[in-house]
Amino acid sequence: MKINTDGLILKSSQTGEQDRLVTILTRDLGVVRAFAHGAAKAKGRSASATETLCYSTFTLSENKGTYSVSEATPVELFFELRSDIERVSLAQYFCEVAMSLAVEGEESSSLLRLILNSLYLLAKGLRDPRFIKSVFELRIMTLSGFMPDTEACCECGETQASRPLFDINGGVIRCDGCGGGFAITRGVLEAMRHICTAEESRIFSFEIGEESLQILSDVAERYLLSQCDRGFTALDFYKNLPR
Ligand SMILES: [Zn+2]
Repeated sequence: MKINTDGLILKSSQTGEQDRLVTILTRDLGVVRAFAHGAAKAKGRSASATETLCYSTFTLSENKGTYSVSEATPVELFFELRSDIERVSLAQYFCEVAMSLAVEGEESSSLLRLILNSLYLLAKGLRDPRFIKSVFELRIMTLSGFMPDTEACCECGETQASRPLFDINGGVIRCDGCGGGFAITRGVLEAMRHICTAEESRIFSFEIGEESLQILSDVAERYLLSQCDRGFTALDFYKNLPR
């Protein structure tokens, strides 16, 4: 059976002398592992199409649950990412998270657009990498069914708390009167609400001050790690880079 789809190569490794085994986040089939025969020896465009962080169009062949890449054409290679160690490690972290959260066999166009938009902003240097990372983390959690409940204090229902707290393990907020959680600001709370509930095309469209960005970046990461209950190699690498 032949399937036409598009997707991002989350991971690509050589297997045997000439072949690659690729993990693709596809629009139509979620995460797919596929053999790309001859790809490790191929030159030029067809070789790039199966490299990590390449967004390509694919014709996949499926036989008894095993996929192989019949054709692959690169659409976007994100060249600018590849020359910058900080940005490429962040991009690889996004891929690792997507690999752990995307579901096999499920339509994943929202997830694919989120990661492509994040990579695009990162590649073009259009926003602070910490900003892109925070939006990616909270939005991918939302898309994966782990949206934090940021509407009101979970104890008393207060929506306008002046010094809100975010309970990272519980994914809820509390007012300072009820207490319990990581201290955030009103600005951070507004940002979290925006990231989780705005329509897709607007999730990156907001401004945030330096102090709030630091807190947002801290809680978004802690929240993702807590809900995923695992670590990510590329994140450890990114965080240990000399700055
Ligand atoms: Zn309260």
